[in-house]
Amino acid sequence: MIKQKKNGELIVISGTTCAGKGTVIEKLVERNDNLSLSVSYTSRPKREGEVDGKDYIFISLEEFEEKIKKGDFLEYAKSHRKDYYGTPKQELLELLNSGKDVILEINIEGAKNIKEMFPEVLLIFIMAPSMEEVKKRIIKRGKESPEQIIERFKSAYKEINEIPNYNYVVINDNVENAVDKIEAIIKASKCQVDRIEEINVESEEEILHEFLIGKEFDNKTMSEKIMEEE
Ligand code: 5GP
Repeated sequence: MIKQKKNGELIVISGTTCAGKGTVIEKLVERNDNLSLSVSYTSRPKREGEVDGKDYIFISLEEFEEKIKKGDFLEYAKSHRKDYYGTPKQELLELLNSGKDVILEINIEGAKNIKEMFPEVLLIFIMAPSMEEVKKRIIKRGKESPEQIIERFKSAYKEINEIPNYNYVVINDNVENAVDKIEAIIKASKCQVDRIEEINVESEEEILHEFLIGKEFDNKTMSEKIMEEE
């Protein structure tokens, strides 16, 4: 009756430092078979505990620049430390066309570029409950110098100014709650009218035909019939 687009939803998730994006995304993918996380390429060195092919596909700077030339990336960005990050084009389009929903965990610049290419993308910004909480989480992580912590804070505040460019903001006060909210956003998005390709319903005459014939037959109105039955 109503034909809807079969392609998957494209979902971009960004967020401030220590918002718990990684954990939320991991749970989200675990709970939803139709959801895939697109693995980005990067030229930055692998950190302890990271797995090649899962966290990122780690390649050299030269390989990355070669891929840029070949047009292999849908979008890419260079960090202030001169590391490249890029979203692979081919894999992403194949997943979407096969009906899979795909998550990209990318920065604000990447989100803006994706929005230009896919205006229907869902842009979700994840935040920690408060900046006080972010401070606690950074200090607890204990991996950075005071200068680096201050730098992280400065960029977190800059990022917060970008929230109006997103469609949704999810506060990660509790992982399960945050995952529930993102699932609801994805479900609602699938009902949007711009996913309708065709509306093809039976005509009024077709639907009312039997009723009209019946009415002709004994010449009684519906309310008369109901009164008779009572
Ligand atoms: P990290 O080095 O901490 O893993 O990531 C640094 C930043 O790069 C994060 O904000 C992350 O979201 C972003 N990022 C990761 N992959 C991509 C990508 O493919 N494209 C863009 N534009 N940003 C990315």
